[in-house]
Amino acid sequence: MGTYPVTRSDEEWRRLLTPEQFQMLREGGAERPDTSHLVHEKRAGTFYCIGCNSAVFETAMKFESGTGWPSFSGPIAGAVEMVEDDNYPGGHHAGYGTVRTEVRCANCGSHIGHVFTDGPPPSGLRYCANGIGLSFTPAS
Ligand SMILES: [Zn+2]
Repeated sequence: MGTYPVTRSDEEWRRLLTPEQFQMLREGGAERPDTSHLVHEKRAGTFYCIGCNSAVFETAMKFESGTGWPSFSGPIAGAVEMVEDDNYPGGHHAGYGTVRTEVRCANCGSHIGHVFTDGPPPSGLRYCANGIGLSFTPAS
């Protein structure tokens, strides 16, 4: 892990997060598909990193991927960083042998999901997020 504007020790993270969230955000875990209510969230609004409340996605970027994970064509500019991911053999989101890029919150380094290149135009990208790592606030 590099240095992020929001840096916490594992102990602090464990206090802030549920065990499930900790495993997901800090240890790169993945939720089972269709477990998050955010998969089918369609209201206009903003998705925030659960670790630091930084805005990472907007509903305008969201699309139905059919994967069972909240999927976005792109993040809010500067909100996430990409990390080469070769740590998760037999990965959960991707097909066998697919190279994956991990998506982390640029503000606190929490694991958000992965990005793939089979998304819709114009970006062609699919940001596959764990719903448990996000909170949603509808636009007022
Ligand atoms: Zn964060």
